[in-house]
Amino acid sequence: MKTLYRKACAKGAIAVALAASFGVASGGVDMTRISKDALVKAPETVDCTLENGAATQCVKWVVRYQPKNLKTGPFCPETLTDEGGIWNWDGEQPGLYRIDEQFLTMLETQGYKFYDADGKVHITDPRTAQPAGNNSCLSASVDTSVEMTVLLPVSPVKAAKPTGLGTVAKVGLALDGVPIFADAPSVLKTGHMPALDTCGGHVDPGGWYHWHATSTDINTVFEHDHVDASCALAQKADALFAYAFDGYAIYGSVDSDGKVPSNLDACNGHTGPTREVPDGAYHYHASLKFPNLPTCLSGVVAKNNFSTNAKQGIGAPGAPGGPGAGGPGQGTPPGFDAAAKRLGVSQTDLLSAVRKNGGRQLDTAAAAKDLGVTEAALNAALPRPPGQ
Ligand SMILES: [Zn+2]
Ligand SMILES: [Zn+2]
Repeated sequence: MKTLYRKACAKGAIAVALAASFGVASGGVDMTRISKDALVKAPETVDCTLENGAATQCVKWVVRYQPKNLKTGPFCPETLTDEGGIWNWDGEQPGLYRIDEQFLTMLETQGYKFYDADGKVHITDPRTAQPAGNNSCLSASVDTSVEMTVLLPVSPVKAAKPTGLGTVAKVGLALDGVPIFADAPSVLKTGHMPALDTCGGHVDPGGWYHWHATSTDINTVFEHDHVDASCALAQKADALFAYAFDGYAIYGSVDSDGKVPSNLDACNGHTGPTREVPDGAYHYHASLKFPNLPTCLSGVVAKNNFSTNAKQGIGAPGAPGGPGAGGPGQGTPPGFDAAAKRLGVSQTDLLSAVRKNGGRQLDTAAAAKDLGVTEAALNAALPRPPGQ
């Protein structure tokens, strides 16, 4: 075991040295590629610590609530006769749908009614209000004062094993300066639908816009899944879309030769030539299915790699998963002390289980397992924030 560990370390060290010496040419992060339309200030390189404890250099970007001139929406349709964005339904007849009359009436037959008798859709702004009824289409308003700080290792390092990307896990930062997250929370869990627009993005309850898809190659998905929707952004299936939080590049569904690669790993990545690195480097590809994002990260991410000054939502101080969510007292979400008491666990354990398993978009089964309680007990005890 010792020899193996040493070997792995030596290999890692060589990889770091190589990546550092060849810089961007070997597949590292090119800090100049993130759009100036999104940046609050010039990007910089800072010291950072990876999740595996290694000290390294990270690129630090500070981006605004959404890039200048980015057109977003529509999200929720106002009435049954309007067309909204898209939703990836995971109940009966699962799949990607346009949010329209046909879809919403199908959901009604499954017990989820998002509209009233005269066809008006129940819409809630989760930044300012709690949903009133059982089923609400969520459409958060923006908070133009929000800034987000994103840290990515300059030279990516492969992890011993891939890290899965659960609901709303951090995926990366798109070249347009919009952060990317894995699956939005399921309607089956929250009863509410945080509608996406037809480019696969929406506004977090913290007031900032983010992607849940590879937006520059999403029309490929609509064709593949026969969804009547179209994203107005320029579509480039072979182009660099983003950098993942581990520093590896994310491309559209095809390589620079125009072909869908046949040797992709479990995370939808492989090593090969790209437009940016003709000699070859590890990179991810968008899939043809929604959400067209990597399903896991092959590399190691930096600690504290996403934070915001937003008052709530992912990465906010005081929100589970946010930098201020340290423990009892300051930053503890309301109702957590009572929930911990009810479950017979410490507040610290409850917070850490919630943080570890998705924060406010909690994987309750996994958190319950960590706490040694039943999922039903956890569900009953937890305070209910609106989902997004
Ligand atoms: Zn989201
Ligand atoms: Zn490729």
